[in-house]
This record gives sequence, C-alpha cells and structure tokens, in this order.
Amino acid sequence: NDRVLIVGAGHAGATLAGLLRQAGHAGPLHVFGDEPDLPYHRPPLSKKFADGEPAQWLRPAEFYREQDIGVHVGEHVVAIDRSRRTLCTASGGSHPYDHLVLATGARPRRLTVPGADLDGVVSLRTLADARVLRACLARRGPLAIIGGGYIGLEVAAVARANGVDVTVLEREDRVLARVASPRLSQILAAHHREQGTSIRTGAAVSHVDGHGGRVRAVVLADGSEIPCEAVLVGVGAVPRDELAIAAGLHCDQGIVVDARARTSDPRVLAIGDVTRRPLGERHVRLESIPSATEQAKQATATILGCAPVTAEVPWFWSDQFGLKLKIAGLVPPRPDTVLRGDPATGRFALFHHDGGTVTAVESANCPAEFMAGKKFIASAARIDPARLADDQVPLRDAVL
Ligand code: FAD
Repeated sequence: NDRVLIVGAGHAGATLAGLLRQAGHAGPLHVFGDEPDLPYHRPPLSKKFADGEPAQWLRPAEFYREQDIGVHVGEHVVAIDRSRRTLCTASGGSHPYDHLVLATGARPRRLTVPGADLDGVVSLRTLADARVLRACLARRGPLAIIGGGYIGLEVAAVARANGVDVTVLEREDRVLARVASPRLSQILAAHHREQGTSIRTGAAVSHVDGHGGRVRAVVLADGSEIPCEAVLVGVGAVPRDELAIAAGLHCDQGIVVDARARTSDPRVLAIGDVTRRPLGERHVRLESIPSATEQAKQATATILGCAPVTAEVPWFWSDQFGLKLKIAGLVPPRPDTVLRGDPATGRFALFHHDGGTVTAVESANCPAEFMAGKKFIASAARIDPARLADDQVPLRDAVL
C-alpha cells in the first residue's frame, strides 16, 4: 500500500497511473500537473487539433474517480525533499511519498534572437499554445516556421492544406537533419514543396521584425526578409529536469535513468521526455509516445517489484498531408539504405542497414513494411538488400 506521487500529468504520468491500478496497486496514487487541463493527447496539437478538431483527453474524468487516482491539475510542484520524502506544491501543500515519479516532460527550446517575444511568435507544446496557433492559422496570413523538424513540418502541412502561405526556415542543410535519414529528408522536402510550401535550408535567422508590437517579418543573416503575420518556433525541446537538479539527482541534459526507470535515488523514478534513458550502449533522449509508454511499464514493474519488462524497439510516427510516417530504430549518421516502394506514389519504406543487419526503418503508408522492419531490428535479422528492394518479393523472403 505504498504511496505513489507522480509529478507531471502528461502522457507518461497519466499512463503510469492507469497501469499501476491495472496491475493491482491499491495504495494512494496522486498525479500533479501544472497545466489547467486533464491529461490529453499531445501529438494531435500539430495535426488534427491544428486543423480544427477538438482536444482529445487521454481518459475521461470518471476514469480517475473510479480508479481512485487523485489528479491535481493546475498544481505546480516546486520542490522535492528527498531526505523527508515529501514534495511541495506552489499552493503550499506538502505531500509525503514512498515512491516519487518525475514525468515532467520537456519545454520548447526558446529562440534567442531579438524580436522573439513579439505578438504572433508562438511555440507549440501545450493545449494553450495550440489554441494560440490555431487562432493565428485562422487569420490565414502568411506563416513562417523556424525549424524544419517534425512539429514544424506537420504544422506546415496543416497550414498549406488550409490555404496559408508557408515558409519553413531551417538552419541546417536539410529538414529533419537531427532525426531522419538524408533520403527521407529529401523525399519529404520535395513533397512539401509540391504542395506549395517554401523551404529554405541553411537559413540563419538574424531577428524577428515587428510593427506595433506584432510580428511583421523574419529577417535572415543574409538580410533577406520573409514577411509574415505569424511565426511558429519549432527548434526542439529541452528536458524539464530543474526539480531533479535542485534535488541533487544525477542529470545530464535530462534525468539519467536505467532500464527500470530508476534515477540515482532508489525512491525516485523518472519517465518520459524528461529522461536520458539507456538504448543499447548509449544513453539517449527519446521524445515519443511509445518511449513514454514503455517507461511507464518499466516504472510499474519497479514500483510493484515485478520482473523487468522486455525492451522495445523505439519508434515514432508523424502525419504530413496524406503521408502516414512510421519510423523505428535509430538512423545511423551514414546509413546504407534500401528503398522499397516508390516515393512518387506516397508508399515507400527506407530500410537502413549495417552490413545487412537492419538498424532502422522509415516508412510512409506502408504498415506491413514498418512492422517487418521493427521485427528485423528486434531480432538483428540479416537481409538481402536486393530482395528487400523488390516489392514483388515477400518481406519474409528478404531475410537471410
Ligand atoms: P509531457 O506530455 O510534456 O507531460 C509533462 C507534463 O508535466 C506537462 O503537462 C507539464 O506541464 C507537467 N509538468 C512539468 N513540470 C511540472 C511541475 N514542476 N509540476 C507540475 N507539473 C509539471 N510523439 C509521437 O510519438 N508521435 C507524434 O506524432 C508526436 N507528435 C507531437 C506533436 C507535438 C506538437 C508535441 C509537442 C509532441 C509530439 N510528440 C509526438 C511527443 C510526445 O507528445 C511526447 O513524447 C510525450 O508527450 C511525452 O510525454 P511526457 O509525459 O514525458 O511529457
């Protein structure tokens, strides 16, 4: 009947609370979240919600009541006292714990150029942010997107589909430089350009120019101006590990955890975007729903003293125009790549391998190839590149 407190009512925290009850944890269970809303699905904020659909709650309010899960929204946790095993909230509450789980997520990296605080310059993490962005898109004025990452490209797709003029400004020499293979970057950039989005790579933003306190244009280092009525800043996210740092937990740009979600204090676990977690030989930050869910399972097993859960292949999805992208594994810096399918038809899969051993798959509208790729990665299967490239050859026959 241990008392479990979870800080952060996002995907990781809310999932963990549900899993703990499902697995039979009967003790007190409380989730503290500093947003005003009940836990909701974050991925739609740059997809269907941006396109006008309503917010999607992770669970209805009755679920938390029925399961006796205390969800304290609008409650900012300001400190942890590890020696007394308590946490303190901004409203003055002090709450004891047996197990504390930090699921505080990440916040958008800020743009540090002059003009970044003008009206009309927005970032996207929360439902509140998404409402502001939606109001900007509804005005149909030109939109500049700083950062050609997944969030930037997803919003670009929604905005273009709604007839908005969109310019994506990417500092690197390709979009998705940090997270996708060069081939996928090239295919997606071409697709966005065909839909009328202007993409400028190698674009260093000098400042944001305003008029009457509102954004008017983004100005690049080469002096060129991109006139706009709104700017979305999508330049990555940084872990919200400040509570953990103040409490003296081991952090390294994220709370460092093991494969059972344990931090350097056995009474404190951490899960989700705030963590730096083991993956093979390395510790990495994975910002994805599947990773948050997997770590919620790990934390459940650790708190209840069950056997560790089996490691999963990391994966991620994104929707851009009609492309349902699914990506598994980690793309190596200079991959050997097999293309199956045809990007021109919108159905393709890129299998990246190292001497025949598949390490990652990037697919669009190809669920079978994605599932097969995930299995290849999990089993370190060796494939015949020529057979895998031929979509007349069944996927299983491409394995050596
Ligand atoms: P979060 O969901 O960020 O939740 C953390 C919560 O903790 C927040 O509500 C925060 O306010 C709260 N908090 C922080 N500090 C405190 C404190 N001190 N006191 C109280 N509360 C606190 N992933 C995918 O796999 N596929 C996608 O297509 C995809 N699309 C995305 C689109 C967008 C626009 C965004 C922003 C993310 C997307 N992601 C996607 C990533 C995914 O949403 C995250 O990986 C996931 O939400 C991580 O869950 P989390 O619980 O760790 O963090």
